[in-house]
Amino acid sequence: MQSLSNKMKITVHPEKLESSQKQVVFYMKYASFVLRTLRRPSFQKFLSWMLRKENIEEHMVRDVQIRVFPFQRKNGNGLAGHCNTNRGRIQIYPKALKFCQNLMQEGGKDKFISYAGSRARAALIHELLHMKYANDEEKVRELTREYFAVFAQNRPVQNSHVSSIYNMIFKPEATESALKTSQEK
Ligand SMILES: [Zn+2]
Repeated sequence: MQSLSNKMKITVHPEKLESSQKQVVFYMKYASFVLRTLRRPSFQKFLSWMLRKENIEEHMVRDVQIRVFPFQRKNGNGLAGHCNTNRGRIQIYPKALKFCQNLMQEGGKDKFISYAGSRARAALIHELLHMKYANDEEKVRELTREYFAVFAQNRPVQNSHVSSIYNMIFKPEATESALKTSQEK
């Protein structure tokens, strides 16, 4: 899976460069962390196994863009990833700065780092599965949870944040309201 790793690159949308200096620095660091995380050999090996198991041909994926700035949906929810199956293009987005700051205050830097890494891995697993299951969102979500759990279980290092991070990724609405409440106290 050497080649999937080579298709990954950090991408900035120029109009977003108007963001404050602080935001730009934060999001650039975030993107390079995500790139390193997704390129790690243990994760690449896992993806290669998953693609084989699902019969998804690796050449269907032309590029994986690690986007520097978050994507805000009209309803205000952030987007973790996007897949254009015709073009073979996957985009991975970061979580918004405000949420990250709240999380760091509540759980410390370690928790934020675990969260950001896990979120990016889950997003890439999810979008790769879209290559095969196209618009079957339910199937993709179900399989994403399964594969994410397989990867997490096989990791040598476990930390105390694992189960709460799992919930943050797969039950994000609950987490966002919990974080908001803890901020308001
Ligand atoms: Zn999806």
